[in-house]
Amino acid sequence: APVLSARGLTRHYASGAGVVRALDGVSFDIAAGELVGIFGPSGSGKSTFLMLAGLLERPSAGEVWLGGQRVSHAGVHLDGLRATRRRRIGFVFQRANLIPFLSAIENVALSLEIADVAPPDARHHARRLLEALDLAHRADSLPARLSGGEQQRVAVARALANGPPLILADEPTAALDSARSRQVMQLFRRIATTRGTAVAVVTHDPRSVDLFDRIVEFEDGRIKK
Ligand code: ADP
Ligand code: ADP
Repeated sequence: APVLSARGLTRHYASGAGVVRALDGVSFDIAAGELVGIFGPSGSGKSTFLMLAGLLERPSAGEVWLGGQRVSHAGVHLDGLRATRRRRIGFVFQRANLIPFLSAIENVALSLEIADVAPPDARHHARRLLEALDLAHRADSLPARLSGGEQQRVAVARALANGPPLILADEPTAALDSARSRQVMQLFRRIATTRGTAVAVVTHDPRSVDLFDRIVEFEDGRIKK
């Protein structure tokens, strides 16, 4: 089964007198090891898609399947999906949003501790992860001491901490210059290829298109044909 399967995903918002169709029947799958780029103009539904696929919001219609299991639909109670979200989905946003008074390694270890990993094991695993992402030399630095690119790579490490099969990233390089954007996108490429993680990245940056296995283009809440 695909890691993620979106089936007819639809989200309407009430807006004044009318209804905004933020997402309008979007269907596609992402397989293990695939890096998919999601493109499209502002307002085309990309963020809404990530919120629904990431189990942060409920669809008005349609379904989200993870690993062959239907997890979200119009009638679901999202509160009950918190554990599923934590185990199966890692999020990366435009800003790293690291906790400023915790070091890089503590930021990563915290995600593990929240998932009930014992602190010494969490720290050990966090160190291994930072090493794998070429950040070992930054493990004990506070976020403010890191460059923007390094902070974003720590955010990627944090997203990977609990070994989710799926990573969802919403414009993760928008705040970075082109060299650091490339580095972060290459990291996603490496994670997909070496760990078999399915990765969906919303981006406006055409410079990294060569790294994607597939590109999905949104337009007016639909996938452009
Ligand atoms: P994108 O991420 O591609 O810029 P969005 O998913 O943020 O697009 O938005 C798609 C459409 O849905 C836009 O017209 C936006 O204004 C609307 N929208 C998104 N969220 C809400 C909301 N909470 N309430 C009302 N309209 C919304
Ligand atoms: P990157 O590895 O993301 O390309 P840079 O080239 O910006 O990072 O920075 C190289 C190193 O210098 C990094 O380890 C970073 O932590 C450090 N550094 C960058 N800017 C500052 C700064 N304003 N003050 C202190 N250290 C900095």
